[in-house]
Amino acid sequence: MNDALDVVSAGVGPLRRRVRPTLAGISGLAHVALTFDDGPDPASTPSFVALLERWDCRATFFLLGQHVAPHAGLVRDLADRGHELAVHGWDHRCVLRSGEAALVDDLRRTAATIEDLTGGPVTWYRPPYGVLGTHALRAARRAGLRTVLWSAWGRDWERRATPARIVTSVDRTLRPGGVVLLHDTDRTSAPGSWQRTLPATEILLSRWSEAGLRVGPLSDHGLADDVRTRSR
Ligand SMILES: [Zn+2]
Repeated sequence: MNDALDVVSAGVGPLRRRVRPTLAGISGLAHVALTFDDGPDPASTPSFVALLERWDCRATFFLLGQHVAPHAGLVRDLADRGHELAVHGWDHRCVLRSGEAALVDDLRRTAATIEDLTGGPVTWYRPPYGVLGTHALRAARRAGLRTVLWSAWGRDWERRATPARIVTSVDRTLRPGGVVLLHDTDRTSAPGSWQRTLPATEILLSRWSEAGLRVGPLSDHGLADDVRTRSR
C-alpha cells in the first residue's frame, strides 16, 4: 500500500509504548483491547462478526465514515452485538493532507453518522496509517474524540502476510494492557488480506483464552476518561 506513509508509522511505532503510552492506549489492566480498522465492508466484516460471536468476544471497529451509511444494516448489526464503533476518518486520506478545520468537519460528520444510526456515543479516533500531527490531535479534541493508536500490530495489510506471520507479529509486541491493530477488510490492504487476518484472529483468541487474558473493546480497557463533550 502506501509505503511512504507506512515508513512514517513504523518509524514512530517502537517509541509509542515508551514515550506516549496514552496514545498507544496502554492499560494497567490485564486486558487486551482488540481493534479492527477500515470497515465496514460487507465482503469481509460479517466473517469477523461471526468469529467474534463464536468466541463471545467484543471488539472496537474503527470505521470509515463514507462507508457507514451505504452499509447501515451492517453497522447496526455491529452495534447490536455489543461491538464498539469508533472513527477512523471520513475517508482513508492521511491527515497531513488536510487542514484542522476540514478534519474537525470530517470527524464530526463520521461520528454523527455512526451515532445517528446506532444511538450510541462514539468516543475514539484513530487516524489512517497511524500518522498524526498536532493539528489532528487538536481536531480530534474539538470533535469530542479521544485519539488512540495501538501498541501491537499484525502487519496484516502486507502482501506477504500469512496467518502465522500475523500471529508472530502481534506476539512480538503484545503485553497485557496492550491494544492490537488488525483489519477486517482489504480495502486499503493487499487484496484478500482479510482472509489471512481472519484465521490469525482465531489463533490469537485461542491463545489469549489459554493464557487467561481478558479480551474486549477499548471501552473495557480501563483507560482514564478525559473525553470532552462533543458539540455538533
Ligand atoms: Zn486504516
